[in-house]
Amino acid sequence: MVENHSIYQELSKIIAEDNILVDEYIKNHTYTQLGGAADFFVTPASVAEVQEIVRFANQAQVPFTLLGNGSNLIVRDGGIRGIVMSPKRFTAVRRDGNKLIAESGARIIDVSERALEEKLSGLEFACGIPGTVGGALYMNAGAYGGEVKDCLDKAVVVNQAGEVQTLDATKLDLGYRTSNIPEKGYIVLEAHFALQPGNTDEIKAEMDNLTFKRESKQPLEYPSCGSVFKRPPGYFAGKLIQDSDLQGKGIGGAEVSTKHAGFIVNRNNATASDYIAVIEMVQQTVKEKFGVELEREVRIIGDELESN
Ligand SMILES: Cc1cc2nc3c(=O)[nH]c(=O)nc-3n(C[C@H](O)[C@H](O)[C@H](O)COP(=O)(O)OP(=O)(O)OC[C@H]3O[C@@H](n4cnc5c(N)ncnc54)[C@H](O)[C@@H]3O)c2cc1C
Repeated sequence: MVENHSIYQELSKIIAEDNILVDEYIKNHTYTQLGGAADFFVTPASVAEVQEIVRFANQAQVPFTLLGNGSNLIVRDGGIRGIVMSPKRFTAVRRDGNKLIAESGARIIDVSERALEEKLSGLEFACGIPGTVGGALYMNAGAYGGEVKDCLDKAVVVNQAGEVQTLDATKLDLGYRTSNIPEKGYIVLEAHFALQPGNTDEIKAEMDNLTFKRESKQPLEYPSCGSVFKRPPGYFAGKLIQDSDLQGKGIGGAEVSTKHAGFIVNRNNATASDYIAVIEMVQQTVKEKFGVELEREVRIIGDELESN
């Protein structure tokens, strides 16, 4: 096991020291506002730096984690060992014909807005999804009948060997809130979205309509990770939770939203362990009442807080 001071020394040969934060609290970087400290939180500024960091982590066997906007992740209170990489410096979006090419750290909401400005249709569904482009590909994010799979043409990734590859979207095995990105260990650098020329008023009307639906149904005033559970075959997770009388029930600072039963909100400085305890309470109650296993959509990563 490589010592932390050696990891720092090696990282500082690859990227500027200002772009390496030590013992950085992940809750400062997640939409959920949950998560203990990462040993090293790095924000590379070039593709070459990303490649070098991946090669170093592999060769030295240092644990490596990618963080987007943390809107689908719960990081435990003990934080994350090794290197956490954020693509927050990669936010450019450019047009090429009827395609929008977006870097992985751009917010998918901003890419959707850019499509509107460019009079391109196909990304309206993404106008309220608070993740990055990288996180949206990883999850095959979708809403209101649309998903990334419908408009993704290609992705540019760094593979586990640190090489840049351009992949057809079909190579990512995009399914219902899944892809093969975790299994292959790809780091998404860029997404090429193939869109259609559209009419500004129609695109805007659709985005306004979806925003209205979202704002009227979702508890956007509190940090959360969106819908916690996948849709179980033949049921709706939110309805099962509502019918289990769980809305408003909480542990510590986390509770099942009173506005949307499928959401668990960080209502009052919740810890990750409060949040996870509420998830487990919901799963157990729904299983007991309806015999349905709720599968999490949200990922839980990191270490438990060590008790002294
Ligand atoms: C209020 C609210 C509403 C939501 N609504 C929706 C919705 O309508 N539809 C929907 O699908 N989701 C929704 N979500 C969930 C979430 O926004 C999406 O899953 C989003 O795609 C996650 O992106 P992220 O950048 O936050 O990823 P993170 O949560 O940071 O990470 C998720 C996973 O993606 C990986 N990842 C991140 N960036 C990269 C990269 N560059 N390369 C490779 N892997 C990467 C991470 O390692 C992690 O495993 C909602 C969440 C909230 C809080």
